Order: sequence, then C-alpha cells, then structure tokens
Amino acid sequence: MTDWFIQGGRVIDPASGVDAVAHVLVQGASITAIGLDLECPADAAVIDAEGCLISPGLIDTHVHLRDPDTSGHHEETIATGTRAAAAGGFTTVCCMPNTTPALDSTEVVNHVLQAPASARVFPVACGTKGRAGLEPTDIHELVAAGAVGISDDGDGIADDSVMARVLQDVQKAGTVFMQHCQDPAMTQGAAMNAGAIAQSLGVGPWPREAEVAMLQRDIDLNRDIGARYHAQHMSVAESMDVIAAARAQGQQVTGEAAPHHLLLTEEACLGGNTMAKVNPPLRTQADVQALRQAVADGVITVLATDHAPHPASSKAREFQQASFGMSAIEICLPLYREALIDSGAIDWPRLIAMMTIEGARLAGLEAKGLGQLSPGGPADLTIIDPDAQWTVDTPTFTSMGRNTPFSGRALRGRALATMRGGQLTHATLGDRLDSGIEPAA
Ligand SMILES: [Zn+2]
Repeated sequence: MTDWFIQGGRVIDPASGVDAVAHVLVQGASITAIGLDLECPADAAVIDAEGCLISPGLIDTHVHLRDPDTSGHHEETIATGTRAAAAGGFTTVCCMPNTTPALDSTEVVNHVLQAPASARVFPVACGTKGRAGLEPTDIHELVAAGAVGISDDGDGIADDSVMARVLQDVQKAGTVFMQHCQDPAMTQGAAMNAGAIAQSLGVGPWPREAEVAMLQRDIDLNRDIGARYHAQHMSVAESMDVIAAARAQGQQVTGEAAPHHLLLTEEACLGGNTMAKVNPPLRTQADVQALRQAVADGVITVLATDHAPHPASSKAREFQQASFGMSAIEICLPLYREALIDSGAIDWPRLIAMMTIEGARLAGLEAKGLGQLSPGGPADLTIIDPDAQWTVDTPTFTSMGRNTPFSGRALRGRALATMRGGQLTHATLGDRLDSGIEPAA
C-alpha cells in the first residue's frame, strides 16, 4: 500500500477541536501523525493540500442505494452509489431500507455489508416487516447483524401501538430510530406543498401538518420510553419548534436537513418541473430560513442528502405521477456551502462537524474511529478545495440517477480527493499529486 504525506492543508477535526494548518501522514490504512513538524518519508506519495481543507471523511447518514433490487428498475447499485459518494467526498454512507426486498432481515443486512463498495456502507434496517407498518421486525437481531439504525424510510410508522413497540425495542437494542415524518392519512395523493402552486398545477396538496403531527406524536410516545430518536429530512418551520422543545425537556432527539430544503422552495415546481418533486416536498422561503436558523442554533445537527436516484423515465411524466426524489450526493458539499456558509448561518468547522462527527454519533460509528481525524485511527479523509468553481453537469454524474433540479447551477467548493482506509477512492488532484497513482476504486 502507498503511504501518503498530505502537505500543508487546513486540518479541521471538529471532534478534537483541531483547526490548524498541518501535514497528515498516512501509513497503511491508518493516520499515523498530524502536525507541522513532520518529516515526509522518502517512499511516501505527496499530496500538496495548500489552500485546501483536510476534513475527516464525510459521512452521509441518509442515502438510497436501491440495492438489493429484484424489481429490475436499475436505479442505482451499492457499487455505483458508493462511487458517486466518493466523488462527492464521502467515505461512509448509511443506506435506507426501502429496497426490494426491504431491508428487514439479517440476510439483506449481510448482503449490504458484503457488497463491493467504494465507501463504507452501514445499513439502516426496517422497523416493521416489509415496511408495511404492521408488524415490528426483530430489531435486536438486525442490530446484532450490523444495522446502525432503524427506520421505515419512505414511509413513517403510522400506527401508535406499533410505533410504541418499535421505540421500546430500539431503546433496548441501544440503537436509534430514524423517522420519515409523514402522516399517511393527510397525504393520500399528495405531490407537492399544499398552497396556490399545487392548486394551479392541479396536483395533490401535501399539508405541513403531515410532518409536524407525526413528529409530535412520536415525541409524546417516546417521552416515557426514552429511545434515541432522529427526525429525517425536516421541511417545515414548526418542526423546528417541536424538536427544540423536546430537546429542552431532555429527550434524545436530533434533526436532519437535506440540501434541497435549505435552498429551494415550492416555486421550483412551477411549470410542473418534476425534478423538484421530492418527499417531503419543497416548502416556502420562510421554511428555508427557519431550517437555516435551526442549523445555526444547533436544533438541526445532521446534514444528510436523502440521495434518491431515479431513471429519466420516472421523471418524464406528469407531475402527479412522477417519482419523488433527487440525486444529490455528488453535488451536496457546495450546495451546503451556499445555503449555510455563504448565508452566514455557520462556518466551515461547523459544516464539517455536521457532515462527519455528528453523523458518526447518530449512527454509532464514533467508536469505530469514523468522523474524526486521529493518529492511530482509520485514514478516512476528504481534501476539499473550498473555493473551486464548477457547474452541475448531470451527464458527468457517477450516480445512475441524473435527476436533480440543480442542473446547470454554478457551485463553489469541491472534494478534490477522498481517501478511505488509506486508499484514494476519488481524486481530481492534478499537479497536487506527485505520482501517477490512480484512485483504487
Ligand atoms: Zn424519507
């Protein structure tokens, strides 16, 4: 294996509080030293990181890899989805359970854990069998097999007694429940945010209450159970108040935001633009502002993409019939920069924390040394040019999904290299790399 000397970047490791220009020495699969007084070993390959950020390898705790898929839709695989993740700067992803078959058995957990991949992949397994919301899965067994969280993502668990039982089992198993907050009774046929635009397009309205009601129901149910609870892809301002109140009362509740909800409003759906159709839907400018404020206030602590690749055919339909979701993992870093740093909500160290150690804590990956940069720990890191200017060009996507409303958008900030376990999984380093070494995967 190649040893690496990554020279003179701004090392940002929120877990330890380090934010300083330094060199990073990688030997084998581990980081062996971080500092300014290091000597470069004669046989190490050198990466010039001047002007770049050196971050712990990015972690995305909410992606759809669409694998296994016995339906033959071919929307993504673990191989393509993790190559896309690496291109976006990620070394670790947590994949959601709305696969075919659903991720509700140890067999499917093992399939995910054993598949060849360009990033570390940790499955989030179902809370109910077949994600049908009726019968709880064997959560203890799924966690023992390697699931790092429990969710029926794609759907929320609507039945109160089933949800209570799932929360109890999650608490006993010492894992986390990740809820897709959508009350199904309020969202039958819903396609976009309820309001004038939905009315003018003649598509099903999605009320804000559908999110808030399930979130509040869960907080109430969980008060005496005390499970760790995570609210996925938050979209409305009122949800921020619910999470903040629950945290103030000592509940272990975290919230997550996706790039599109931090940047776009329902107006992106005008003209029936199906690329802007997403679950939960894009809301209003006041909601965008509330989510950014919640990031600044620490109410939202985890940034995750909800990367949801789809083939062109499932978007080339009437708005009402088109698929929900956006391919996001390759372009999210500069989108977060625009939404959160350029707006003044947070700075780079906090953004990196929300993309690394916060996700590691959520999914219980901190003990594996992920989400942090420390001598002796795994050499998972991302070299970021914070000012690189580029444009979203969907034909060049690594993901099989080119479905994004950000096509053509000017971006600032990019992962120049991604290293997992001492191997480059993505590199566009040009002259910064002193040897002809190619990415490993
Ligand atoms: Zn979801």
